[in-house]
Amino acid sequence: MTCKKILIAPIVICVVLILLPLLIFSGNYVMYQNSDSMYPAILPDDLLIVEQSGIEQVKQGDVIVFETHDEGIEVLVRRAIDVSENNQGILGIDTKGDHEEFHDLWTVYSDDYIGKVVEVNPSSGFLISDYFRYPLVVILAISLVLLVRESIPKKGLEVKELTCLRCGNKWHPRIIGGKVKIPSTCPNKDCRSPYWNKPRSS
Ligand SMILES: [Zn+2]
Repeated sequence: MTCKKILIAPIVICVVLILLPLLIFSGNYVMYQNSDSMYPAILPDDLLIVEQSGIEQVKQGDVIVFETHDEGIEVLVRRAIDVSENNQGILGIDTKGDHEEFHDLWTVYSDDYIGKVVEVNPSSGFLISDYFRYPLVVILAISLVLLVRESIPKKGLEVKELTCLRCGNKWHPRIIGGKVKIPSTCPNKDCRSPYWNKPRSS
């Protein structure tokens, strides 16, 4: 019983820590910065709240988030240094990292644009990082398994005695995994009859 109560604590803590960021930031795109490319405005491990809006809402100087289609980077945070239409009338954004010397070589178009950073939460990126969340999921899973095992009623050791029908010896059998181990011979060293459970035919 006490063991069960001890297991409830990690389960509750893990569920809260896993769900909390999702509940607080629900409806927003949430990410964490993993480089110093936007130093000093945004530091590594800052938690960023991104408002998903149309690209036409972006003004020069906004910090935007977009898809790079680059394996390993995927999503980038950059400052919009120029917002303008190209000669076909398509709106594009030129970007630069605050901490980078040169502006980026690409132009961000509507298809890859995700949104504008509207909130920076210092050092709380770990809340949504895999390094934090995966161990939580593992702890949660182990706790749940232990709780389920703890909840299965254990069969008490059956105290039923066995009796040798040849010598009359009585003994408490060995019980392993809830199963009575039926001996092949009578444990009485003076009997040792393999027929201990068969009555003598007179
Ligand atoms: Zn016996």
